Amino acid sequence: MSTVPTAVITGASSGIGAATARRLAAAGYRVVLTARRKDRIEALAAELTEAGHEAVPYALDVTDRAAVEALAASLDRYGPVRVLVNNAGGALGTEPVASADPADWRSMYEVNVLGVLHITQALLPALTASGDGTVVVLSSTAGLATYEGGGGYVAAKHGAHVIAETLRLELCGQPVRVIEIAPGMVKTEEFALTRYRGDQDKAAAVYAGVAEPLTADDVADTVTWAVTRPPHVNIDLLVVRPRAQASNYKVHRES
Ligand code: NDP
Repeated sequence: MSTVPTAVITGASSGIGAATARRLAAAGYRVVLTARRKDRIEALAAELTEAGHEAVPYALDVTDRAAVEALAASLDRYGPVRVLVNNAGGALGTEPVASADPADWRSMYEVNVLGVLHITQALLPALTASGDGTVVVLSSTAGLATYEGGGGYVAAKHGAHVIAETLRLELCGQPVRVIEIAPGMVKTEEFALTRYRGDQDKAAAVYAGVAEPLTADDVADTVTWAVTRPPHVNIDLLVVRPRAQASNYKVHRES
């Protein structure tokens, strides 16, 4: 069996997930790329394979429990999984609590909370068997503090934060560490566009005047740094924001 360590990344078809896959592949991991859009993860796997890395595309909806379990079973051939990056997620809408659509809240809870639960539960036996497993939860600064119009996303990301905190307590004494990375403003191609349901102008306004929002690669660099610390070092929670952002509220914009 190969000794190359395996890292599973959810939401690897775009943004932070794709950038993290590139970084972890460069760091020597066999990367298993999962997301719903098969064409995108296949293209990324081809790019990484061409560059001499091991990359496996696997189409997956993290809200589908049976599909997640099938993924876990399919990974046996590679030996124990060393790293799981729970990155799949996102926001839908900015409506206030008074008028938000419960269906949006349900969708956000499904992917940002239950998605993390499904795949973490499915891969935990393999992560433990590896002797030095790492679970990464990509939460958000929205998982630590709220803002107007954030309600459903903030509630969901608080859920992801609580999974990381609770799991770390429950796994204490076992060879699996739990790392939470909480980014602030990251300019990715799709995050704001998804949140504003395809409205390009509203999505662009999120980053208007901000000289240097974080990039997907900035966050991927942070994830990779945390994952590549010696196994006994646990970066519990790392908040990373652009210099122009001091809190969810305070963002410096140049006019
Ligand atoms: P993107 O919208 O670019 O990426 C989201 C990824 O999640 C996509 O690859 C998408 O792939 C995947 N995804 C969504 N739903 C599902 C699902 N049901 N099953 C499997 N995969 C799914 O956003 P970012 O890269 O910006 O964000 C990545 C993570 O970081 C998210 O959890 C986000 O909440 C968090 N974050 C982002 C910040 C930002 O400012 N951008 C700030 C803080 C945190 P596909 O559609 O192909 O399934």
